[in-house]
Amino acid sequence: MTTIAFLGLGHMGLPMAKNLQSAGRHVIGFDVVPAALDAAREAGIEVAASGPDAAARADVVLTMFPSGRHVIDAYRGSDTVPGLLTVAAPGTLFIDSSTIAVDEARAAHELADAAGFHSLDAPVSGGVVGAENATLAFMVGGSDEDFQAALPLLETMGRRIVHCGGPGLGQAAKVCNNMILAISQIAVAEAFVLGERLGLTHQALFDVASNASGQCWALTTNCPVPGPVPTSPANRDYQPGFAGALMSKDLGLALQAIESTGADAKLGRHAQEIYAAFAAGDGAGQDFSGIINTIRADSAA
Ligand code: NAD
Repeated sequence: MTTIAFLGLGHMGLPMAKNLQSAGRHVIGFDVVPAALDAAREAGIEVAASGPDAAARADVVLTMFPSGRHVIDAYRGSDTVPGLLTVAAPGTLFIDSSTIAVDEARAAHELADAAGFHSLDAPVSGGVVGAENATLAFMVGGSDEDFQAALPLLETMGRRIVHCGGPGLGQAAKVCNNMILAISQIAVAEAFVLGERLGLTHQALFDVASNASGQCWALTTNCPVPGPVPTSPANRDYQPGFAGALMSKDLGLALQAIESTGADAKLGRHAQEIYAAFAAGDGAGQDFSGIINTIRADSAA
């Protein structure tokens, strides 16, 4: 049976690990936060004494960390903790599902490759609800062979698994998608505020745009005003959903990619500034569609 070292048992990691375990996989979990280990134990997941201890006993090492720095540090190790790449058995497959910069993902692949291991970047979308319901979308970068090897595991945690290309291209797809999402959510919010100024009701604008060329997920699923889409966060005081802090983080990664490639992405850059300010203010814990309140407040009296 495949043994999976699941490292990083936070909001996303714990429910993902639970789904692997419920599907009959042998999961050994670890997190640096004791409360996360307690929650894993309560869920019946075996916990290891350390990340390297779990990795040394696994066929697959799956990381779900806050940032690229955490991934690279864990792969390499430090003076006090051995690197995951130094303790894993030959043939271990490394899968990183954290959302990190494309350049960091490529650096992680290079470290794994230099240590003789196969690796994939496999970031997700779908949030905590998707993690709990095993309906995540996985965007995967790496070789065909490694993708095929990981597919049964990823299918246990997700519903849509797309092989995006070679190393780093899973993260590339994620960053590009979220840049579209951020820009379109701002565009929809600006249109509603402009419509209000012009005397247009929310419902009338929704009825027209949702059946016309303005149609998009930010309008028809994540509608930023209460009413037209009863399940959107606007109907529950902008409780996330997808929090402003996470959108700001992902746009920071998009900005790094824009700068490292030289792509001309004026709206992407502007969206990053807008969401960084939103997350630095009241928006960190709100759904990112709450940006409409900033746009309304900033509109001329
Ligand atoms: P989180 O902070 O809740 O969980 C990360 C966990 O990693 C923490 O519990 C932390 O203690 C642990 N950790 C850090 N370094 C570690 C180490 N060396 N060994 C073991 N554990 C370690 O974050 P999250 O919300 O679960 O998100 C995880 C990743 O998924 C992030 O990169 C995030 O951007 C991405 N993501 C999150 C969401 C979401 O809705 N929360 C959606 C899509 C993607």
